This record gives sequence, structure tokens and C-alpha cells, in this order.
Amino acid sequence: MLRKQVIVNESLRVSADLVIIDLSYVIKLTDPAKWVWVEECVKSWKEKMNANATFLGVMDSKTWYSLNEADQQSFRMWRNAGRAQKIRFADPLILEIASENRAAQIITYDKYRDFRRDHTWLQGTTRIWEPFLEDETISFRQVDCPPIPEHDISKAVQDAGLKPRGFTNRESWKDLRFDWQCKTIDCRLANTHAIQEDPARDNDVVICPECRQPLTKLGPRSKTREVIFLVESDELCRVPLAQGEAITVGRGNGVGRFDVRKILSLEVAEKISRDHVCIENDHGMIFVRDLGSTNGSSVVRDKGRVKTLGAEKYALGLSDRLHLSRGVLVIRISGKQRSFGIFTPDLSTPPYLRQKDNLK
Ligand SMILES: [Zn+2]
Repeated sequence: MLRKQVIVNESLRVSADLVIIDLSYVIKLTDPAKWVWVEECVKSWKEKMNANATFLGVMDSKTWYSLNEADQQSFRMWRNAGRAQKIRFADPLILEIASENRAAQIITYDKYRDFRRDHTWLQGTTRIWEPFLEDETISFRQVDCPPIPEHDISKAVQDAGLKPRGFTNRESWKDLRFDWQCKTIDCRLANTHAIQEDPARDNDVVICPECRQPLTKLGPRSKTREVIFLVESDELCRVPLAQGEAITVGRGNGVGRFDVRKILSLEVAEKISRDHVCIENDHGMIFVRDLGSTNGSSVVRDKGRVKTLGAEKYALGLSDRLHLSRGVLVIRISGKQRSFGIFTPDLSTPPYLRQKDNLK
């Protein structure tokens, strides 16, 4: 798939003098980023390394948008000459070209730890060169890429997978500390509360991974909780609730509602009131209250102790089960917690393994 997007002159493909420039790194030799470093890089490489070198630049789209107009124009000239390529993610393309051109050198700072499973030639490679500024000119030093053990490669692959694509800088990663909601009417993710998938990012806007429209920011991820709906201990669905969110559980759909008719037979759903219980996330604690339902609701605690639920808010613990209409529908909190970059296991599956309620 990538190959179709590569505009590489065939003569470059087989050249032993090919140098691939990771443009996003090179232009950031100074802050703010400047295209002039690319030209300096070329000049300097020809002077100090190889006078016959030919160059191919790869830039990720995100970086391109950060360039000023003159620098974008410089990039276009390179691209029109078949010397540069803009793509959403630069690394896979750079490595693909380097794999096809076994003698090609790469100018970057990257050691590509998370790509070493697919590109084993990276282990111990001497083909990566780091540019640095010395007396106003660019020099190069070889990047030391010693082989790394398989388990470290696995870890690097996993870490890379934790970073949703498009979130390329430290500033944007802050957005991953929050949960997001899609409000596009026709979107598959629109009716969920906090979207469970990671958001995407496009040109400084956090967007829906499905419909690619801008998302609405909810509370911090570390405060998002998830409730599970069960019938006779069979799990039917899970609903994430972000900080500050509340849902009314009952027969009826609409904004801020969970419609039990989606998961129960008509006959069973009849036993649930239109407005049966309200479930609310208040700073990571789940509170429940009965909304004056016909058949009532109760919380079953450890050892079978039962508390009938009234109009006052009740803090639901990890081991508590909320019974609607004497248990035709059961709701409990999952132990799933997610904060930035840290995934903790769902401690409540299987249920009741934990004695201590760590959500309080
Ligand atoms: Zn959407």
C-alpha cells in the first residue's frame, strides 16, 4: 500500500549514493523549524561525506502544516523534482525505502526501536546518521544502533501502539489525558458516552477515529469509570461514564439515557420504569439513586446485605451490585481504569476477586 505513494525516481532506487532525509527531524535542528537546514544538510553531506550523493526527503503531514509559507514552497520544489514525499507517518516509508536500497544512508536521530521486528537490518546498523550544528555548519555522526533483545523490541512495539496516531508532540499528548465524545449524529460512536477508542488528531484538532469530525472534550481519563449491565450474571454491555456524566436507566431513548429495551426482551423490559435509576460519575465515584421507580432498586453488598435505594445518592462500591426490579437487571462497576499511557487490568473480571474498593 505504501509503495504506491512513493514517488521515487527509478535511478535513485538502485543508487548506492542514496541518502534518505527524515525531513521532520532535520528542519527542527533549531526552534522554530526551518527548511534551510535541509539545504545545509545536502551541502554539508556532499562536502564531508559523499560528493555524488543524491537525496530523498520524507516528511510527515503534521510537520508540513507547521511550516511557514516560504518553507512549504521549498518543500514543493523538492517534491515536484521527485526528491521529496509528504506522508501521514514518515517512519514506515523511510524504512521501506531503506530496505529496498541496501546501501542507502538515513539522516535522522531515530533508532527505530519499534520497527526492528519488521526490519531486522536495523539491529546494529551503521546506516543512520545524526546531524548536528558545529560552528554554524552541519556535521554528521553515526548513530549507535546496537542490537536490542527481542523482549525490548516487544516493549517498544507495544509502547508505540499505545500512542494514538497523529499525537506527535508532547503538547498534543495532553489531550490523551481526557476522554472525548463524538456528537456527529450518524456516527457509529455518537451514541456512546466516552468513546472507548483512542481519538485521532488532525492539524491540531482532536477528531473522531470513525467520522473524523471534531470531538467534544469530557473529563480526565483517570476519572472515567465503566458500568456493566448483566442479566443473571451474563454480561450484556458496558457503558463508560466520564467525570460529570450521568445517565438515566429506563425504558426510553434520548440524550443522557440508557434504554434497557436495547438489551432486554420486551417482557422483561416492562418491569423497568421509564425513569428507573440515575447513575452518575462524580470525580471518579459512581453514585446511584432511584428515580421513583415502580418496582424499586436495591444495592446488594458483600455477604448478601441489601440496601433499598431511595432518592438520595448512594456511592456504589466495586463489589456492590445494583439490582433493578428485584434483580431482573443488575448493574455493577467494572474495575477498568485508564489514565494516560497506563492501562490497568479490569480487576473486577472475574467479579468480586478484590476485597478492597480502590475507587474510593
Ligand atoms: Zn464520530
